[in-house]
Order: sequence, then structure tokens, then C-alpha cells
Amino acid sequence: MEAIVNSGMYRHDRVGLFKVTVRSNARRVIGRYKEGLWHITVPYGIERHKLMSIVGTWEQTRDTVDETTCQPFYRIGQQIELDYFTVVIEREDKIADKVISRYEDGKYHVAIGSRIDMNNPALWKTITRAIEDIAQALAPETLIEEARAIAKKVGVRPTGWTIGRGRRVLGTCNARGIITLSRVLMFMPADLRRYVISHELAHLSELNHSSRFHTLCDSYLDGREKELQVKLKSFRWPLYY
Ligand SMILES: [Zn+2]
Repeated sequence: MEAIVNSGMYRHDRVGLFKVTVRSNARRVIGRYKEGLWHITVPYGIERHKLMSIVGTWEQTRDTVDETTCQPFYRIGQQIELDYFTVVIEREDKIADKVISRYEDGKYHVAIGSRIDMNNPALWKTITRAIEDIAQALAPETLIEEARAIAKKVGVRPTGWTIGRGRRVLGTCNARGIITLSRVLMFMPADLRRYVISHELAHLSELNHSSRFHTLCDSYLDGREKELQVKLKSFRWPLYY
């Protein structure tokens, strides 16, 4: 069983040469045909024969994405319900090739112009960015307030709070006692937010990850540190990354 771990040019019997980009955070195989060549993004370690059979099905289509293997990540009419806000994805004829978001009837509406192809991964990124911008704007009065309440409950007081943008670095605590929380915490369930917040709060007392640190963090989490650590590892974002 051969696994694909390197980006580069690969050859398919019928399709010929195609270009592969390996991404560790890719969740599916995505292909775009441009200038006579398939450009394909694959998850790290995908089996070669599996990739070849997917590429084989694209031979005839030569379009942006094969819908039988790659469903669009977002779809028209989809409602994404997060703890602090709800997003609705919808079509908007008047804006042709633009994407706009607006707040109406208690929800954030991400409107996709009528000329935009929902199968295009570049559009999914645009939608993700629009939703991240909403989270950024709401974070001070939602995420930070939640974190303040958790800090109060465990009896610690950071010097200050800021909002970050990291998707891998979800939180940091600096030597001055300022905690940064990523806005992407707002796309997680409450227990995982609490896990990240508690971790940073424990750094106010213990700067490294010593056993004293974990004992403290675990006490902030009522003995759930290990369980939540495992849950975080298998968490899947509701947004396209
Ligand atoms: Zn840490």
C-alpha cells in the first residue's frame, strides 16, 4: 500500500501527468483543471491507488470539481449554528460575482452572487473568511466575556485579554499575564473553549507544561483535562480550512 506524502508531479495511465499538492490539513481530494493540467490537493498519506481511481473519474469531466467525489463544503440554504451566532448561506442575484455578509432577523447572512460557482474551493475560503470576520467583531462581548467568567470562577485574574486569529495556536499567555484567545474558539463547542481558556489561565501560575501545570489545569477543568485534550484532537471545524 503506497501512500502519497510528497507534493509533485504524478502520472495516471489515461489522464497523464498531473500536479499534486499534499496538505496535512486537507480533508478530501480537490481538483482544478487549468491550462491543460489537473492541480490536485490531497490529504497527507492518501493511498496512491485511491488517488489514481479518483483522478481516473475526472478524465471525462475536465471541469472544476467532480461532484461525485467532492461535495461543495458550503451549500446554498445551509445554516451554521454556533454558540454565539448563526450564519445562513444564501444566493443573492443582485450581487452577481460578489460575496457580502449582513445581519438581519437575528442571523448573519452570507450572500453569494448568482454568478459564483459553489464548487470552487476558492469560494469556500472566501465564505470562511466572512464568517471569521463576524466572529472577530463579536469576540469582545462573547468569547472574552466567557473567558472572564471562567477566570473569575477559578479565582485568577489575567492582566488583559486580546483576540488572535490562529487556527493552530488557539491561545497564548505571555509573561505579563496577557491572554490571547483565537477567534476560532467561537467555532468550537463550549467544553473545548473552556479547555483552551483553562489551559491559558493555568499558565498565569505555571509558565511551562510541568506536572504542576497539568494538576492545576485539571483542577480548573474538574478533572476533565485528559478527556478534553483527546476531544480537541478529533475536533472537526464546521468551517472550511
Ligand atoms: Zn500551554
